[in-house]
Amino acid sequence: MLSVRDLHVSYGAIKAVRGISFDIKQGEIVTLIGANGAGKSTTLNTVAGLIRPDSGSIEFKGQSIVGVKSHKVVERGMALCPEGRRVFSQMSVSENLDMGGYTRSDAENRETLQRVYERFPRLKERMGQMAGTLSGGEQQMLAMGRALMSKPDLLMLDEPSMGLAPILVQEIFDIIKELNAAGTTILLVEQNANMALSIADRAYVLEIGTIKKTGTGADLLQDDDVRKAYLGG
Ligand code: ATP
Repeated sequence: MLSVRDLHVSYGAIKAVRGISFDIKQGEIVTLIGANGAGKSTTLNTVAGLIRPDSGSIEFKGQSIVGVKSHKVVERGMALCPEGRRVFSQMSVSENLDMGGYTRSDAENRETLQRVYERFPRLKERMGQMAGTLSGGEQQMLAMGRALMSKPDLLMLDEPSMGLAPILVQEIFDIIKELNAAGTTILLVEQNANMALSIADRAYVLEIGTIKKTGTGADLLQDDDVRKAYLGG
């Protein structure tokens, strides 16, 4: 579904991504793990069309998307749930969800909205509440619900567990697994390597803008170097 080759991305003189290649097949959960500053968010934002790479190729469903504007990438079936959630805080829950469905027809959105509310009953209870007054976990659910409104084939999640209590982290990861089981391919960026590797089919370990290791989630959970660096020994 997604094929990235020799991707280079920089911010001025800072080379954030230095020649990474990775693939995601339809139906997979793939995770990118790595320390702060390894280039994970830069990679997602570049794939989503928010940053233009210096060089390299990005193919989505067999077509190049380098240089394609981010809203056009959404129309092709990819959605990003960004780091820090970025909900529209002065808008209600339902208005935030409407924003996520802007590429779809009203009729489609009515149906998708029902499904999002079924998946996240707490959002339904709070549909009129200002998004800025939601708890961190609720805001994460809203950000995911907003991304789902575009009915993506590939959902990219940037640090969905950040700042959440352990019980909510578990809930968010359960939802990611359910979305995947229902047919959505997932690219997950996480600091919580333990949780990410436990649900991932495959994983890539990023260090200073390069891929240091790749393997199945289960194999990397047992890998000595990964355990020392990312799983607390
Ligand atoms: P984190 O887990 O902390 O979010 P990350 O692996 O997602 O880290 P990135 O956010 O992609 O890493 O950052 C990669 C490198 O690019 C870092 O050195 C960072 O300081 C730099 N960087 C990121 N965004 C910008 C920006 N807008 N301008 C300049 N440098 C940036």
